[in-house]
Amino acid sequence: MGRESCSLHIFFFPFLSHGHMIPTVDMAKLFASRGVKSTIVTTPVNASLISKAIGKSKTHNNNNIHIETIEFPCSKAGLPEGCENGDLIPSPDKFPLFFLATRLLQEPFEKLLLQHKPDCVVADVFFPWATDSASMVGIPRIVFNGTGLFSMCAIECMRLYEPQKNVSSDSEPFVIPNLPGEIKMLRTQLPPASITGETNPLTEFFKEANESEGECYGVVVNSFYELESVYADYSRNGLGRKAWLIGPLSLCNKDTEEKSQRGKDASIDENECLKWLDTKKPNSVVYICFGSIANFEDSQLREIALGLEASGQDFIWVVKNNKKEGESKEEWLLEGFEKRMEGTGLIIRGWAPQVLILGHQAIGAFVTHCGWNSTLEGVAAGVPMVTWPMGAEQFYNEKLVTEVLKIGVPVGVKKWARMDKVSVEWEAIEKAVKKIMVGEETEEMRMKANVLSQLANAAVENGGSSYSDLGALIHELLSLRH
Ligand code: UDP
Repeated sequence: MGRESCSLHIFFFPFLSHGHMIPTVDMAKLFASRGVKSTIVTTPVNASLISKAIGKSKTHNNNNIHIETIEFPCSKAGLPEGCENGDLIPSPDKFPLFFLATRLLQEPFEKLLLQHKPDCVVADVFFPWATDSASMVGIPRIVFNGTGLFSMCAIECMRLYEPQKNVSSDSEPFVIPNLPGEIKMLRTQLPPASITGETNPLTEFFKEANESEGECYGVVVNSFYELESVYADYSRNGLGRKAWLIGPLSLCNKDTEEKSQRGKDASIDENECLKWLDTKKPNSVVYICFGSIANFEDSQLREIALGLEASGQDFIWVVKNNKKEGESKEEWLLEGFEKRMEGTGLIIRGWAPQVLILGHQAIGAFVTHCGWNSTLEGVAAGVPMVTWPMGAEQFYNEKLVTEVLKIGVPVGVKKWARMDKVSVEWEAIEKAVKKIMVGEETEEMRMKANVLSQLANAAVENGGSSYSDLGALIHELLSLRH
């Protein structure tokens, strides 16, 4: 590994959710492996998760990674004590409170900056105020957005041109103006506030976050040039954004232990899981997982169970713990389903070692909610996808996978929805799973996905595009300091 610097010191400050913390920890490990002193700033509850992940890292320079904690005053914010992660929010209506409360981190964060005087801050897009914090101590602030460049460009074009305002019905598609690729969307696939024009503290929060991206020193992106070169060029030349593509970050995890220790503790013994997969033929198992936050209603889980059974495919299905307080059994579980599926389907209740599973040769497809980490982990593993977006920027990620890269089929969701309210019927699930696993286009999609996987792996190797972009960023930060 190249060692650009033994004296540069960077603060990494991830948003308090697994989808943001996991790639940021990978990023800190990556910088550390190039000789940068990397300090991750987070809250006590999240620090314990992160320190476990770092502890397992044998392939990186652990001595270069540090954690500093700052208190998140939950009770002051009206949240239950210990509620320091998006994953721990007791109900969806508390999300706005949680997002807005993260502003309380500014003061303790600035105290740490003054105390440690790092050379740069890589702070999450959801901490827009971190640009001011960094300039207070005279250092650059780089944004980590958490998503890819295709969707970042799409969001920016939507912000600039608001094409959704020119259509007269929910079923009338519009093209995202100026975005290369003639990408068509429906207004129902956008956050409701962007149609109604409603403003509230949360919409203001996201607006400020989006705007702060344009005001910072640059953006570090979990992606690689070969995946979205058109959009990387458009972002740099068309939108004037300075961006470094240094991913896929998940690929910095090399051994089984490291791969299985991202985020929470896995709810299944990783060796048991791999043993189960070892009994399966290559490309014969569908992996279904909807990220770290999405939680379905029982009725939706039943549809998924029916769809999977009808598809006739082997599967690993990750179900967030859906037994509600006081319930003696899981209401969503179809009568006799698990017994019937014995040997065919494996249900993981809770947290799966996702990167480990995706990397197994038995996995033939990934049913995903199109969170960017999951999407890129699917790409890195060379696995075609069934796309089932729900919210955030996931509908843009779906377009990238299905229309630009052509390595996936949509399950057919047309409506941006609150995560607990999505509804797709079992027939659509059966159809999409069959299409991705045994359809006419399966082989072609698989071939394309394989090529992308090879490009992803090459990008992070010495001399690859992401490797070089990371080196360029480190050199630039060093030159700023001198
Ligand atoms: N993840 C995991 N096991 C799970 C669920 C999620 O390892 O059971 C990881 C997944 O590999 C990814 C992250 O959690 O790195 C989820 O991020 P993503 O952007 O896909 O979705 P989000 O959780 O932010 O909606």
